[in-house]
Amino acid sequence: MNTQTTKGVAVVTGASTGIGAVYAERLARRGYDLLIVARNEERLRALAARLTAETGRAVEAFRADLGDKADLARLEARLKEDASVAMLVNNAGVGSVASIETADVDEMEAMIFLNVTALTRLTYAVVPGFTARGSGTIINISSVVGVAVEVLNGVYGASKSYVLSFGHSLQKDLAGKGVRIQTVLPGATATEFWDVAGYAAQKTSPITMSAADLVDAALAGLDKGERVTIPGLQDDDDWSRWEDGRLALAPKFNNAKPSPRYGLS
Ligand code: NAP
Repeated sequence: MNTQTTKGVAVVTGASTGIGAVYAERLARRGYDLLIVARNEERLRALAARLTAETGRAVEAFRADLGDKADLARLEARLKEDASVAMLVNNAGVGSVASIETADVDEMEAMIFLNVTALTRLTYAVVPGFTARGSGTIINISSVVGVAVEVLNGVYGASKSYVLSFGHSLQKDLAGKGVRIQTVLPGATATEFWDVAGYAAQKTSPITMSAADLVDAALAGLDKGERVTIPGLQDDDDWSRWEDGRLALAPKFNNAKPSPRYGLS
C-alpha cells in the first residue's frame, strides 16, 4: 500500500485503452489518485483494480459516454464539486480517414461533440476550482493533424486545430493564476484509434510511435514547462518558427482599408 500523500485526483478521459490508459498508469505512479472515464466499464474496472494493486492509489472508474449530454453533465457536476481534482487530461477522442464525399455527417457531428464540445465543457467545469485554489493542470490532447490538416479527415483535423487554438487562448486567459495548460500533439500512435478511424494498418507503420513513448515524452514536456508538446517532432526550432510567424501576423490583420491588392482605391 502506498502511504505517500496524494497529489490530488487526476481525471483522465478515454482511459479504458490507448493513450489514456497509459496516462492513467503513469499519473498513478507519479502519486495522483485517479478518476478514469470511458464507456467500457469492464476495461475501466480492470485498469482501476490493477493500478490500485500496483500503486496503492485510489482509482475510481467513472463510466460515461461523453458523446451523451446527460453523461457529460454528470461528469461536469462531479468535477465542479470535487475540490480534490488537481489535473484534467482531456484525452477521449475519435478520428476518421474518410473524405467529405464518403463520411457520414451525423458521425462528423458526433466527432465534433466528443473532440470539441466535451473537451470544452470539461475544461469549463474544472477552471473555477483551479483558479480559486491557485493550482491545477489541464492537458488537452490535440494531434499533429491539427496543423497538418490535409492528412486525415477534415472534420477530425479541424477538431484538433480547435484543441490547439483553445489551448493558446486558455494560456492567455489563465496566465498568472497558477493553472498549467499543456497541449499535446501526438503523431501516429499505435492504438485502437486507427481501427475506429478506418486505417488499421497505420498501427504497424514504421513511423508510428508506441503509446508508452508518446505519454512519457508528453509528461517530460510537461515537467519542462512546455505549453505545446509534439513528441515526434525532432527539432523544436521548427515549431518555434511556426509560432513566431503566427504571432508576428497578429498585429498586421486589422486595417480600416482593404489591401491595395484588391484594387478598391
Ligand atoms: P483509442 O485507443 O481509440 O482510445 C480512445 C479512448 O477514448 C478510449 O478509452 C475510448 O473508450 C474513449 N472514448 C471514445 N469515445 C468515447 C465516448 N463517446 N465517451 C467516452 N470515452 C470515449 O485512441 P487513442 O489513440 O488512445 O486516442 C486518444 C486521443 O489521442 C484522442 O483524442 C485522439 O484523437 C488522439 N490522437 C491519437 C493519435 C493516434 O495516432 N492514435 C494521434 C493523434 C492524436 P471507450 O471506447 O471505452 O469509451
